[in-house]
Amino acid sequence: MPGIIPHRHCIVCGKAVEPDVVYCSDECQETMDKERKRQRNFMIFMFVLLLGFMVLLWLGAPKG
Ligand SMILES: [Zn+2]
Repeated sequence: MPGIIPHRHCIVCGKAVEPDVVYCSDECQETMDKERKRQRNFMIFMFVLLLGFMVLLWLGAPKG
């Protein structure tokens, strides 16, 4: 099948890009960076919430 150039798609907007790059532009890279940060912050938030819940359970457990 001639005519098919090896390529991949920008993981942000889906545009065809060179096979060795992940993003089509700095803008898309920035978008992904922000998304990663947002997801990490969410994970930290959930972790802290879970930790707080466990402390509450521990404090509420009958002593002795
Ligand atoms: Zn893109």
